[in-house]
Amino acid sequence: MENQSIIEESLLKLKEQGMKYTKKREALITFFARCNRYISAREVHEYMSDIFPGISYDTIYRNLHDFSDFEILEETELNGEMKFRIHCRCQGHIGHHHHFICTVCGKTREIYMCPMDYFKEQLVGCEIEGHRFEILGRCEECSQIS
Ligand SMILES: [Zn+2]
Ligand SMILES: [Zn+2]
Ligand SMILES: [Zn+2]
Repeated sequence: MENQSIIEESLLKLKEQGMKYTKKREALITFFARCNRYISAREVHEYMSDIFPGISYDTIYRNLHDFSDFEILEETELNGEMKFRIHCRCQGHIGHHHHFICTVCGKTREIYMCPMDYFKEQLVGCEIEGHRFEILGRCEECSQIS
């Protein structure tokens, strides 16, 4: 149910950006909505190849970057590789927050604290337009497997 609304919302964004709806794009978004963790383009390509044999890696990669520009996905670099996940929906009800990202499984967890206040003091006279802050590590499950 929850997933369904994420998928619908994402497809709507796609339309707003003038991107055509295709079965492939819907499958891509559905995959991300279901996984809810950071996934590499390679892994996405493997999954998509099962459903759409012969789909090119470049097509997948381009779509992932477009989706990320349209805020359907979020991207981050993990272990030297770009990874993507469904764009965070929690912003609306819980307000500004950051993420802890597991470098092994790609799962994320919200952090309800923003370090910006500390840095503002050191940036007197600068106009801050935005910031990114991520904590990387191993989640509880992954830190038990060594
Ligand atoms: Zn979040
Ligand atoms: Zn993990
Ligand atoms: Zn912040």
